[in-house]
Amino acid sequence: MQIITCIKQVPDTTQVQIDPVTNTLVREGIPFIVNPYDTHALEEALRLKDRHGVRVVALSMGPPNAEATLRKALALGIDEAILLSDRVFGGADTLATSNVLAEAIRKLQKEDDVAIVFCGKQTIDGDTAQVGPGIATRLGYTQLTLVDRIEHLDLQKRVIRVRRKLEGRHEIVEAPLPVLLTVVRELNRLRYPTVPMRLAAVKAEVKVWNNSVLKLNEQTIGLKGSPTWVNKIFSPQRDKGEILGDGVNDPTGTAKLLIEKLVSKDLLAL
Ligand SMILES: Cc1cc2nc3c(=O)[nH]c(=O)nc-3n(C[C@H](O)[C@H](O)[C@H](O)COP(=O)(O)OP(=O)(O)OC[C@H]3O[C@@H](n4cnc5c(N)ncnc54)[C@H](O)[C@@H]3O)c2cc1C
Repeated sequence: MQIITCIKQVPDTTQVQIDPVTNTLVREGIPFIVNPYDTHALEEALRLKDRHGVRVVALSMGPPNAEATLRKALALGIDEAILLSDRVFGGADTLATSNVLAEAIRKLQKEDDVAIVFCGKQTIDGDTAQVGPGIATRLGYTQLTLVDRIEHLDLQKRVIRVRRKLEGRHEIVEAPLPVLLTVVRELNRLRYPTVPMRLAAVKAEVKVWNNSVLKLNEQTIGLKGSPTWVNKIFSPQRDKGEILGDGVNDPTGTAKLLIEKLVSKDLLAL
């Protein structure tokens, strides 16, 4: 039985800049990190390995340098690292990304039963939170999103109970395996790799699966398989702002001024 954890390499967004001419991310010289939510997904997979003796496989789709992300996972104790990398996978939107990841999981499923697929809640670059649900839909797995605690797992009876973190409340949900979980940071505290594990990870194998391994129809992957694209990217801009009237001493007059302003800018019709 195995657990798959999907991890994405993302730019360290606290340092990301946008090219004002091309409106694209400036990637040169930017350090890459493992998507923070994915580190918690990975940690939980490793805890289940410690408790239940299951195999943990990490999957990442990205350019060749995304191998570094998988080496970090190897240093933490995963059993197998697979990089899905091919020029034809490039330029993928969430639909095409989840397609490639789902097909890789389907291939792994043929070798060994998959109990759980872990994803982060979302990434910190694309931020769409669509890939996890996209994978689950393609594989026909139950999807349990925003998980902040695994309450119970019975691999024999093939059932899992989790707690979902919703706005202002929690929800406890039980589902049959296999499931796809997307996780939030509160799920666990991360472990650190030991020095021997880090050294071993440098030499460990990272398998690379390109499209000659997955054999996917090129119309369903990469740019060709992506019905959405990023039209423009820019930093949020805010005008300096304008203070109207004296809202404390004359709220009615200030409200009138505000209405006039909105009407003059065609933002409000009376
Ligand atoms: C600034 C920016 C804006 C973008 N906007 C859009 C957009 O509006 N629409 C769109 O379709 N695409 C968009 N993209 C492209 C988007 O990054 C890709 O579609 C991407 O491969 C996955 O989407 P995401 O990062 O939003 O993932 P999310 O759906 O937020 O990721 C959820 C989880 O899925 C897993 N996962 C996601 N990608 C991978 C991967 N490559 N390998 C392994 N696991 C993975 C991780 O566990 C992750 O935590 C954007 C990219 C950038 C950089």
